[in-house]
Parts: sequence; C-alpha cells; structure tokens
Amino acid sequence: MENQLELKNYILGLGASEVGFSAHNLPSPYGQNLPYAVTVMLKLPDAVLQSINGKPTISYFHAYRTANAMLDEIAFKVCAYVENLGYLAMPIGASQSTADDKSSYRGLFSHKIGARLSGLGFIGKSGLFISKKYGSKVRLVTVLTNMPLKAENPIIENGCGSCENCVKACPSGAISGIVYTEGMQREDFFSAEKCSKHMKTYNDIGRGSVCGICISVCPYNKLK
Ligand code: SF4
Ligand code: SF4
Repeated sequence: MENQLELKNYILGLGASEVGFSAHNLPSPYGQNLPYAVTVMLKLPDAVLQSINGKPTISYFHAYRTANAMLDEIAFKVCAYVENLGYLAMPIGASQSTADDKSSYRGLFSHKIGARLSGLGFIGKSGLFISKKYGSKVRLVTVLTNMPLKAENPIIENGCGSCENCVKACPSGAISGIVYTEGMQREDFFSAEKCSKHMKTYNDIGRGSVCGICISVCPYNKLK
C-alpha cells in the first residue's frame, strides 16, 4: 500500500480536504473493470454556508461551481498519476447526470457510496454525504481505477439519530426522513426529482441550480 499512501499525499498536496479509498461492488461505467475508487473531498468555506439563511445565495452558487471545477481538475491529475503507475483510471464528474438518463439525476458512479465505503463519513437522511470531519458542507469527486486500494477506515453507519432538521427545513418535501441503510436506492428515502425541481425556482443566483438549505441546518456542520 506504499503507492496508496504516496497517492494520498499527492492528492492532499493538490488542495483536497480529505482523501478516501475503497473497493466497491458497483458496476464500472462502459463495462470496464475498475473495482477500486479514490474519493476526493473539498470543504466549502464556512462563511459561504453562513450566507444561506432560508434560501441559497450567489456566494453559495459560486462556491458550489468552483468546488466542482477544482475537484474535476484534481481528478484529472489523479488519473495521470495513476496511469504513470501502470493502471487505468476513470474520472467521474463532480456534478453530472448521465446523458442517457437525465431524469435519474445521477452520474456514472455514486460519489457518496464510494465515500461511505472509504469510511470518511455516512449518508444522511438529507441524501447528502456527511463527512465525520466536516459535515455535509463538502463536495466530492471520484476516480475509478484497477489500481488495488484499501479503505483506511471502517464504514460509519448513519449518525442522524432522531434529528429531523433537514426533513422539516426542506421546502420541496424531497427528504422523507427514512434512514439510509446499505443497499438502499436513493429514491427509497430521497426524491432527487423534487429537490431538482425546487432548485430551479431560485432564479436570482446565476444560471445554475442550487439550494443548500439542508446543508445549512445540519448539526454536523459546525460553523465557527
Ligand atoms: S437542496 Fe433544498 S430542496 Fe434539495 S433536499 Fe436540500 S433543502 Fe430540499
Ligand atoms: S440535518 Fe439532521 S437528519 Fe438531516 S442529515 Fe443532518 S443530522 Fe441527518
């Protein structure tokens, strides 16, 4: 696992907030055999999160887009690094819906499942990934590879407990309050369609679609 440690230090040197590794049992895109995942996490600035008070702000939209762009760039660099070691590497876009099924509101691989398997945190009732270090004020990207990798931490099960802050605060009714457990499909506990439709109602924060209310009310996001 010497390669893994060196890769981790390389990614942290690129500006990532956290790095995780996992072996997954999900299908790889395009039928390739890429059974390992590198998860890269970037924390959003606390002051930006503080700006969300019942509705998203242009600062949150900017931070969301910037974080995605940074993560996508890091993922490309990770691919080059891994290929230099003689392995295949596939970057999964930080924010994407697959072209053939946009209505599914999902990318080619679930960043959250990879992050959960790496032991970096858990999937909350909000459908967000909740980092044990930073809460849900994070963005994620994944690189799939055939370079053998091993999770450094055990899986953390859902830590929402009796909290229902996001369930009550969500204006779209997307969050059912059901606790995610392994193997559950996202639509079993969270409606990405309701969430996405609601995001599009904010038309004064730029051309994109964000909301972030569920992040702003989560007690795991300790703001200074
Ligand atoms: S982003 Fe907004 S609409 Fe979507 S789940 Fe969170 S609070 Fe609800
Ligand atoms: S607000 Fe509460 S219920 Fe929602 S994800 Fe955070 S801890 Fe879980």
